[in-house]
Amino acid sequence: MLTSFVLFYLVSWIGLSIAIGVAASAVGRDGVGWFLIAAITSPLVAAILLLVLPRPTSESALRRQGRRACPFCAEPIRMEAKLCPHCRSEVPALERLTPWQQALERPGEVIVVLGFVGIVVGLTLPTRDRLVQSWSQLEQSAFEIMERLVARFDQ
Ligand SMILES: [Zn+2]
Repeated sequence: MLTSFVLFYLVSWIGLSIAIGVAASAVGRDGVGWFLIAAITSPLVAAILLLVLPRPTSESALRRQGRRACPFCAEPIRMEAKLCPHCRSEVPALERLTPWQQALERPGEVIVVLGFVGIVVGLTLPTRDRLVQSWSQLEQSAFEIMERLVARFDQ
């Protein structure tokens, strides 16, 4: 009974985190990164951050995939391409961005996430015992509600 509740909770948490990741990549963000933000903080926090943060431009979304727009035909081409496969124009080859440069491409996002983690850690450290206590109370009442629901269905 308790195990199935925990399992239900875990599956919903992961399911919602995956949904956040899918939604993030649909708007040109890093899907895996946002899945991790949702799974580690909470799907609700990630959803709020996703809505609040400005959307990346299509150019920075392309750069994150190691691609750029061809200066002649505007089709997406590889960063290191010297010849556009779409219009056959010669284009200057560019270096592929390192993960660190990719992170700097979106400083707003990095700062917000780091700031948020800092706030959570700062708030959590002194009040950890109280948080743990209220969390277990919350779990207890959720568990009781589930138990009552199950009892009703069992009749
Ligand atoms: Zn082209």
